[in-house]
Amino acid sequence: MTLEIPDANDAVPCPLCGDHEGAVVGEKGRFGMPVRNVCCATCATVYVSPRPTAAAMAEYYRSTYRKHYGAVGYIGPDGQRAAPGDSGYEAALQQWHGPQADNALLLGETRKGASVLEVGCRHGRTLELMRERRGILPFGIEPGETEAEEARRAGIDCFTGALEDYEPGSRRFDQIQWFHVLEHVHEPLQALLKLRRLLEPEGRMIIEVPNVYEPYGSLEGNFFQNVHLVSYSPRTLPALLRRAGFEPTRVVDGGALFVVARLNPHVSAAELPLPYSPALLGESADDTSWVATRLGNYANLEQLAELCRAGRAPEELAPMVLRCLRFPAFTSHLLDVCALFVERLVARGQLDPAIAVLLAVVNGPHPAEVRAEFRTFAGRLGALPEQLAAAG
Ligand SMILES: [Zn+2]
Repeated sequence: MTLEIPDANDAVPCPLCGDHEGAVVGEKGRFGMPVRNVCCATCATVYVSPRPTAAAMAEYYRSTYRKHYGAVGYIGPDGQRAAPGDSGYEAALQQWHGPQADNALLLGETRKGASVLEVGCRHGRTLELMRERRGILPFGIEPGETEAEEARRAGIDCFTGALEDYEPGSRRFDQIQWFHVLEHVHEPLQALLKLRRLLEPEGRMIIEVPNVYEPYGSLEGNFFQNVHLVSYSPRTLPALLRRAGFEPTRVVDGGALFVVARLNPHVSAAELPLPYSPALLGESADDTSWVATRLGNYANLEQLAELCRAGRAPEELAPMVLRCLRFPAFTSHLLDVCALFVERLVARGQLDPAIAVLLAVVNGPHPAEVRAEFRTFAGRLGALPEQLAAAG
């Protein structure tokens, strides 16, 4: 089967600040495709450039995307992947959309009878469950014709097409939500500006996207994808929302990234979009080298972790890990993979190398609480008092 993959020949500026300079943090994406991810020199947003044009991508989504990435499937309660028509599909669908509906109701503090717009609602299952659980009035925007039709069959009022093409008239919503959609959007600032006009004055918007500070799987073999045009962080997504006249009220940063926002009452439509300024990133902005270094180290640590999980840990595991631990890492990933490395080394009877890994974290450029935890761990594993005294 030959797949028509659009060429990435459109070099674009940073979607948050408009700068053209940046550090390359990835040259490949899922399926080994050439996908160049850049970390902006000014605001540290990670985005794809060059990329295919919006028209080429729209055609790709219409004709090829599902063949390329596989049919829409869900992981069921039994851990098995289930596609439409499989016996476990209904249970798997429920397992994914049930918690998503609960999250939306919780984060949105959705009242009974609220009007809720979901951008990219697919078959409408989340909206359907929210209607069952809270009596909402659902509305969906869905470019996929088959899925929009499925949503309508479930009784969900649905516009078939892209957000840009939707003409709302005077219609306004109490809640707007999108789950894993914004990262696919070519002009996210324009999309947010449009949605701002669709939100009731007291309304809320909920966005869920992959979190670039918590990648999953191999960085270039799984996390980076040709369809994920921007990889947002807990700093950059709130900043983009602020430019579009929103006020982020909650950022939930664990695994995926959730941001809840309402309209900023202090800016008028005429001022929008607000110009970029570093203050939009908040007090604890992370600079380009902070992000780029951690992404590079994530890729190296994850590669070693994958070998360990596959039972193919290299003989020289400990020295390879020690080299990585001299550099900063994303904390939750560091905790996960170091536990794995130590377990494998101990299982091989390599107690001293296991202790060396723990002490390398204690001595490395890692957060104080992580270093303290690993210090305790090293003591329990039998690190000598003088080793602990010498460590950080
Ligand atoms: Zn930027």
